[in-house]
Amino acid sequence: MEYIAGVDIGGTKIAATLFRPDGELLAKVVFPTRVERGPEAALAEIRTRLEELRRGRPAERLLGIGISCGGPLDSRTGLILSPPNLPGWASVPVTRFLSEAFRVPARLENDANAGALAEFRFGAGRASAASGRPVRNLVFMTMGTGIGAGLILDGRLYRGATGLAGEIGHTKIIPGGPECGCGGRGCLEALAAGPAIARRARERRKEFPASRIWTLAGGRPEAVTAAEVFAAAAAGDRLGRLVVEETAYYLGLGLANLVNLLNPEVIVLGTIATRYGDFFLEPVRRVVAAEAWPDPVAAVRITGSPLGDLTGDYAALAVFLDQSPGA
Ligand SMILES: [Zn+2]
Repeated sequence: MEYIAGVDIGGTKIAATLFRPDGELLAKVVFPTRVERGPEAALAEIRTRLEELRRGRPAERLLGIGISCGGPLDSRTGLILSPPNLPGWASVPVTRFLSEAFRVPARLENDANAGALAEFRFGAGRASAASGRPVRNLVFMTMGTGIGAGLILDGRLYRGATGLAGEIGHTKIIPGGPECGCGGRGCLEALAAGPAIARRARERRKEFPASRIWTLAGGRPEAVTAAEVFAAAAAGDRLGRLVVEETAYYLGLGLANLVNLLNPEVIVLGTIATRYGDFFLEPVRRVVAAEAWPDPVAAVRITGSPLGDLTGDYAALAVFLDQSPGA
């Protein structure tokens, strides 16, 4: 029997998995990244954890390793290039290290592209195939500290000229709007990513001194994150609802542009959108329907991820299985 190893590297935790090539999950272990210990120690632990997982399958063959990590990174050279959530991880040769350690091919892809490949092969792309024609055009959006997208166009991962395609987080929504981490203003990320959601709630603190958001954050407004805003909104809090509705509006504008530009069949929204489902997706769908052309709107399904908490794991597996040029 054959299997594939997956490694999903995040800022707080790393997941190592073993899968059958058809997507059956065989084993999984999660451990803290502990960024401060540096990349060498983290890579050594990834190696040890994978060796431990493999011990249960002595007679089986490891085909290769897929790695998913937040960008920036270079999928051709297999280098992680100082992602914001992994400070100090500059030019980390993760594919060379794992490939030499296990004597198998290893492939690296950023989490947005990897998530798109996973949804295409194992998630929302497959769910649609069951109901009719196979999906050929799918967009996966990561929504956390930043906003990014992975694009599957005509059945293949689209990387663009220099591997930077899909940066929807830095498309402009409000000219001259709030400052963005990229140095620009009014980007989608500066309006609808986690820190922007928290900031917009804090800006209205005087107007809504009794909001549940402050209680959920332990009375410390500086500790508010998007999670408290969404939790308060789901419980009927006025400020929470206001901020979530605004977020849906900004995100809907970004998606309307995307829908008119690419005419995808499926848009999968990760993290918060997956967690809160239609509570957040419905207002987003309404904005897209109002702002994009009717024909591409009728053709697109906007959904949370059916892979849920396993998206990152399937992302790593799909990176290894993908045969798109440039990998
Ligand atoms: Zn930006």
